[in-house]
Amino acid sequence: MLTRKHGVTIELWRGDITRLEVDAIVNAANNGLRGGGGVDGAIHRAAGPELLQACMHIGHCPTGEVRLTPGFRLPCRYVFHTVGPVWRGGDEGEETLLANCYRNCLQLAAEHAVRSIAFPAISCGVYGYPALSAMHIAWQQISDWLTEAPEHSLQRIVLVAYDDAVWQAGCRVMPGIS
Ligand code: ADP
Repeated sequence: MLTRKHGVTIELWRGDITRLEVDAIVNAANNGLRGGGGVDGAIHRAAGPELLQACMHIGHCPTGEVRLTPGFRLPCRYVFHTVGPVWRGGDEGEETLLANCYRNCLQLAAEHAVRSIAFPAISCGVYGYPALSAMHIAWQQISDWLTEAPEHSLQRIVLVAYDDAVWQAGCRVMPGIS
């Protein structure tokens, strides 16, 4: 399923992010960059032990920010490790923090001449963010960033839906998707 905005293809894709042949994949990491369950675990398993070493070397990532490593054994060149907020009911700045994750990843993509990037549904697993609100933020940030960014290399942005809730939320939120 895809749509276009400012010449960039935006896809909602169902499956395992580690299989995607894109320049960069985004990891929904934790503050300690220690690896974990969910998409983080899948990315570390597919990338191999060098990824954990690289993450330990970096050490820490504040919520809403992003850190870069190589993709090692993954088909992508880079992994962008961002830390989404834990959902605590919505009154603790969760929306801004999640928006920061998307914007900071897009900015980093532009700085590294990334042409294609894939995002998982950051915070929508164990961190408990409601899928519909999260996908709305994802779409809004991508859309605003593409409108505002002066020059960038991006040609393709993939939103990866691994579970039904995210898939259905993505279908509702992305306009003109076909
Ligand atoms: P968080 O801690 O940020 O909530 P999770 O990894 O628990 O991160 O979940 C984030 C989202 O990633 C969830 O929607 C989950 O279904 C999805 N997910 C889990 N494994 C994968 C995978 N291999 N590829 C893409 N998305 C995945």
